[in-house]
Amino acid sequence: MIFAAHESCVIVIGAGMTGIGAGYYLGAAGISYTILEANEDLGGVWNTHRWHGVRCDSDFIKYSFSFRPYLSPHCLQSGATIRNYLRDVAQEFSITPQIRFNTRVLKAVFDPAKHRWVVHTDRGTFSAQFLFNGNGYFSEEPYIPVFRDSAKFKGEIIHTSNLDGSRTFEGKKVVLVGSGSTSICCAPELAKTAQSLVLLQRSPSYIYEITNRAGPLILLCQNLYRLGLRAPVRWLRSYLQFRDDVIFVGFRRFPLLARRFFRRHWETTVGEDELRAHFSPSYDPWEQRIAVAIGLKEKLRDGAITIKTAPIERFTGTSIVLTGGDSIDCDVCILATGLNLRFFSFDVYVGDAKIALARINFYKGLLLGGIPNYFHPMGSWHSAWTQRCEPLTRLAVRIMMHMKSRNLAVVSVPRRDIECRPGITPNYVIRTLATIPRLEGTTNLPSIDNIFCTRFRAAAYHFS
Ligand SMILES: Cc1cc2nc3c(=O)[nH]c(=O)nc-3n(C[C@H](O)[C@H](O)[C@H](O)COP(=O)(O)OP(=O)(O)OC[C@H]3O[C@@H](n4cnc5c(N)ncnc54)[C@H](O)[C@@H]3O)c2cc1C
Repeated sequence: MIFAAHESCVIVIGAGMTGIGAGYYLGAAGISYTILEANEDLGGVWNTHRWHGVRCDSDFIKYSFSFRPYLSPHCLQSGATIRNYLRDVAQEFSITPQIRFNTRVLKAVFDPAKHRWVVHTDRGTFSAQFLFNGNGYFSEEPYIPVFRDSAKFKGEIIHTSNLDGSRTFEGKKVVLVGSGSTSICCAPELAKTAQSLVLLQRSPSYIYEITNRAGPLILLCQNLYRLGLRAPVRWLRSYLQFRDDVIFVGFRRFPLLARRFFRRHWETTVGEDELRAHFSPSYDPWEQRIAVAIGLKEKLRDGAITIKTAPIERFTGTSIVLTGGDSIDCDVCILATGLNLRFFSFDVYVGDAKIALARINFYKGLLLGGIPNYFHPMGSWHSAWTQRCEPLTRLAVRIMMHMKSRNLAVVSVPRRDIECRPGITPNYVIRTLATIPRLEGTTNLPSIDNIFCTRFRAAAYHFS
């Protein structure tokens, strides 16, 4: 059965941050839309990730939507706060009624004769002129490495994706495996109740500790916003983005200075040997996302958290043995080993032809080569997602409005073969390097892209 999304001009897939942002801009432009969401609630990763200490590591005044900045004396916000924020936004801008929950998209087919998408779901079929994909970029199944003899382990091994933050590990010897953002957020929370907590990383990593108190400039801009002056928060967001981009480019260009910066950041907390063993990676700063810590230094100083750096050799019944011979007693092993990248959670067809999505060109991080009337905004790797996703959503809406005003039916960009140059190369990118979409038409720096690349120029697209 084909559902009444006939009346909707756009089908949005996913009610995470991207889908909710799309709902706002489509609604503001008077374009009808339906959001199809596989889960029973909105929020995307901020709904599904419930582990201890889950939070963002981008300043939330910048990561929250520009049309509804989140004001707070804290820079970073917990997963629960972000979840509630997204619910409030969806409610306030009448987005919630447009969401069809528990509806998973299985296949999307563009009909070249009718110039419409037919979207097949587990709850029937929907149709619309445009498809706007906000299906996120992480697979639902976490990345779980295989460890030798893990079946012999008598304790519990659990991945953070399956961990509920309300669980306590009182009296347990916990080993937290991983050194990315997840483990750095999770560790101080787990250490509050665990008998002991070992943060076990395979190799050293860069970690930056903050106090999480908003500085005077942020507080001033927020107070002016509360008084009705919107511009200062707008400038602040641009400034914070510019600062992120300068740090990113500066660290990549001057790695020795960047390494010294991290050295100084940690040398007052840990000794020379620990600095070398745990905080001096072989890669340069910002080759991978830098984890932001709150309260980690204090927990390291008072011994509530211990760091170990070595690959796991094998498990025994009661411990984890590291290459090099060290052994860590363990009751619970929590894997913060990350997620797998997955850009498409359903198959895409144009007519009868199934589109090979591997290595597809991703024009400006918005349109995919050879797929008509399809938008898929991609945030930036090194900064807050919304800083690029929101301008791209506005660009998509501008393209739709342009087409409406000229009675055009189809927009596309050509498929091309291009090299893959990811902005950063963490393990989850490396694992999928051969297949991930290839970005083109962007500098990967939102401060610059938002001035030049996300402007609408009709000549850049094929219309018919
Ligand atoms: C723990 C964690 C912390 C993070 N911290 C930051 C941060 O500090 N800064 C930052 O910029 N980014 C951060 N991110 C990245 C985050 O993924 C993005 O910022 C952003 O939230 C992505 O939103 P999204 O809506 O595109 O995707 P998601 O949040 O993944 O939402 C996608 C939605 O689409 C739905 N969906 C998927 N497939 C289908 C289908 N076939 N049919 C129907 N519905 C479907 C899903 O159920 C989900 O609700 C973090 C991610 C995680 C997991």
